[in-house]
Amino acid sequence: MSVIYTRVALIGLGLIAGSMAHAMRRGHLAGEITGTARSAETRAIAREIALCDRVTDTAAEAVAGADLVVLCVPPGAMGVVMAEIAPHLAPGATVTDVGSVKRDVIAQVGPHIPEGVHFVPGHPLAGTEHSGPRSGFAELFDNRYVLLTPEPGTDAQAIARLRALWEGCGAKVEEMDADHHDLVLAVTSHTPHLIAYTMVGVADDLRRVTDSEVIKYSAAGFRDFTRIAASDPTMWRDVFLTNKDATLEILGRFTEELFALQRAIRRGDGDHLHAYFTRTRAIRRGIIEAGQDTDAPDFGRSKAKREVSGA
Ligand code: NAP
Repeated sequence: MSVIYTRVALIGLGLIAGSMAHAMRRGHLAGEITGTARSAETRAIAREIALCDRVTDTAAEAVAGADLVVLCVPPGAMGVVMAEIAPHLAPGATVTDVGSVKRDVIAQVGPHIPEGVHFVPGHPLAGTEHSGPRSGFAELFDNRYVLLTPEPGTDAQAIARLRALWEGCGAKVEEMDADHHDLVLAVTSHTPHLIAYTMVGVADDLRRVTDSEVIKYSAAGFRDFTRIAASDPTMWRDVFLTNKDATLEILGRFTEELFALQRAIRRGDGDHLHAYFTRTRAIRRGIIEAGQDTDAPDFGRSKAKREVSGA
């Protein structure tokens, strides 16, 4: 593969930025990778493990001369970070982000984009429950989707170049309207995370009653919830604060369905339960057929090096 950007600046050096750095190196997609993070501790780790070619102390230094700037901070911090780097951006540069919510991030970042700089928002549908500069790995985006949500009128070449970078990182790229993205992700990621957080919270309350048996005898269903519920608290707080409407819409529907299932259990309506679970099983088959998960028992845990989920 050939170099797509001369200098890529990563702002925020956690799981996603780290994985991008590894994937860009694997594909030889960037001439130079610069990066910076808020804390001196993260910057020191990034230097120690040579996450980027150059780790700078300020965002201004990181973006100087960059033809691509990637905002890799939590969704709620995007606007403040963008305001800080705006005066230092090179003319003709592209700014993108990897935030899990798109409409709110566009509202935060868009107003700070200088004349002559392109803004192409993005979201890789890949992640793990781990965070920080040591958690990234080159394969994270392989065969996973990246959704780009540019506003109408965005420079086509800037979009095509960013698409090529993500494809070089192993991803499949699609374009989508930002509002539609937020609704889809509320169904596929945000509400499921909230449900996992709730279930683990309930189990934690119960643990006190059952003398730790919930943890000791933890079965597959609960264990899967605990993995999801171990995800980064700052990022997920921001996801719910910034994707409020879509999440509340899906939570409302979820609650209605839950009440229907509750009634079926109370009434002993096995037909209802069986028909419902048959329908949901077909969805799982669809995900496997689309190559987005493994059919191996227990998600192939005994073999897999890492679990891959996504926000
Ligand atoms: P992460 O590993 O926790 O790293 C976050 C980075 O942002 C760190 O370098 C942190 O700096 C910095 N940061 C945190 N708060 C900040 C603030 N208020 N101002 C400036 N910098 C700040 O996070 P991540 O998982 O890579 O997530 C980054 C972005 O990717 C988020 O927008 C998230 O929505 C999106 N995303 C995540 C996943 C996932 O599964 N994790 C998947 C897809 C997209 P310090 O280390 O110095 O504190």
